[in-house]
Amino acid sequence: MKIAIFDTMRVGVVDGDQIRDVTDAIGETTDVWPPVFMNRLIADWEAVRPRIDAALANAPPVPLASVTLQAPSPYPTHIVATPANYRKHIAEMGSIGVTPRGKNAATQGFFLLSTASLCGVSRGIELPRGYETRRFDHESELAVIVGKVARNVPRAEALNHVFGYSCLIDVTLRIDGENNEERVMRKSFETFTPMGPWITTADEVGDPSNLRNTLTVNGETRHDASTADLIVDVPGLVEMASSVMTLYPGDIIATGTPEGIGPIVPGDDVTIRIERVGEFSIPVRIGDTVPPRVFS
Ligand code: MN
Repeated sequence: MKIAIFDTMRVGVVDGDQIRDVTDAIGETTDVWPPVFMNRLIADWEAVRPRIDAALANAPPVPLASVTLQAPSPYPTHIVATPANYRKHIAEMGSIGVTPRGKNAATQGFFLLSTASLCGVSRGIELPRGYETRRFDHESELAVIVGKVARNVPRAEALNHVFGYSCLIDVTLRIDGENNEERVMRKSFETFTPMGPWITTADEVGDPSNLRNTLTVNGETRHDASTADLIVDVPGLVEMASSVMTLYPGDIIATGTPEGIGPIVPGDDVTIRIERVGEFSIPVRIGDTVPPRVFS
């Protein structure tokens, strides 16, 4: 099942280019802050899914293109992110890699992104004023959506704790010589973590260990890789993160970018596609913000 959140926090099920509103089957108010309904829906999925299935029969389809897509897990307690998890990406980073040369996700672990950097695919990537002085890159990543409270989950049980998958672009202000800011800040500007267009449930994706991951900018291929090349794979990432902290339903694990990172500028159109998970295109704009203090 492909579950999307749209417009004023409506819950929808996507089928082809149509979406059906099943919000009434969720049994709670969704358009209030904080938007934790999705965390509960995921936690209670076995009970909620039959109600959604029943509601689908009477839910009229509307064109997916006519709705505003929000982040499909809008209020995660964590966005776990993975550095240096594809060997060819480590090679291309060379001296600008934050992770010390020769190290990778298996030895360096993970970092966190601000949950406030998350946005839906209808929003657009907004580069801050003053972007011209620096380089902003795309990173194309499979996102894992945690399905159950996870603490010290062994590898063999890890996939039982996965609710589903989504497509995630980890937009990054690249370090540049003396401009060597903290990684969390460089990746946590508002709209720098667009995710979607929906969550595809784990039963529909199956084995996540060989999914093609591609990203184009204005039609030009930048990333074209497979999750088969992950250094720490999906079960390994759940095991690693949950060995440090408790993960909760709705939490997001961004699995890291393959080789092919490159700059984006306002006016670009970025398309990410992950096999059996989804695909979205998103424009790059100038954000309506003052220049961040890091530029001034
Ligand atoms: Mn990344």
